[in-house]
Amino acid sequence: MRGALVTGARLGKPLRWPLGCAPESLAGHHVGDIVRRGKYLWLPLLKGAAGEGAAGGLLMHLGMSGSLALRQAAAAPGPHDHFDLHTSVGTLRLNDPRRFGAVVWAASLVDAPAATLLQRLGPEPFDPALTPLSFHTALQLRRSPIKAVLLGGEAIVGAGNIYACEALFLAGIHPALQADRISRPRAARLLEALRATLARALELGGSTLRDFTDVHGASGTYQAQAAVYGRADLPCVRCGTPVRRVVQAQRSTYFCVTCQRR
Ligand SMILES: [Zn+2]
Repeated sequence: MRGALVTGARLGKPLRWPLGCAPESLAGHHVGDIVRRGKYLWLPLLKGAAGEGAAGGLLMHLGMSGSLALRQAAAAPGPHDHFDLHTSVGTLRLNDPRRFGAVVWAASLVDAPAATLLQRLGPEPFDPALTPLSFHTALQLRRSPIKAVLLGGEAIVGAGNIYACEALFLAGIHPALQADRISRPRAARLLEALRATLARALELGGSTLRDFTDVHGASGTYQAQAAVYGRADLPCVRCGTPVRRVVQAQRSTYFCVTCQRR
């Protein structure tokens, strides 16, 4: 979409947060380089040659069930299509049946409301500035179970439920272990396991547990080769002990009591 001219926008039913500007004020901007931060997408909107209104951008979040699609000729909006951005290369449409998603205008990523929404996000998993030492330091500040800390996204972003379970298995760490009790070598192993897990998942197009599809409509296949996730009572792939399922912070955790130590 880079360089596309915005020709208009349409709002459906209210999303999690209001857009924060009149949809018609988006027309005339050009789309800049789209970036991702945590689960947010930032779509910069630049002033056109003769554009009016300040440049800024749209911070987008898919919520629980949202999906984005770019179509050259979009059909009439359906009951769950709650935001359309019409551009010279097609219509970017947010479909969001549960409406936990959002599209929010901000002047920049460091201005409200974007800055407020992003301020608690931990480092990106593949950011070279995230080192075994800095990761260990972040874990030292947290007394909750490591599984909950990973899902919380303040020590690192990107480790959703399936990836947190798999990385903890790979690193041999019990999911209930308190984060600040994890030694420096184990923190290093966990960071390595998180990166390996996420890299593999990216190769496989992510995980489709219910209805996730990418922007081209393709499902992910990572979940089919998970070592522990979704395998309650089945033998551990490493030692044969039945995989245990427990509930932590209202989410299912799968782990092996033999391979994963406190
Ligand atoms: Zn095992």
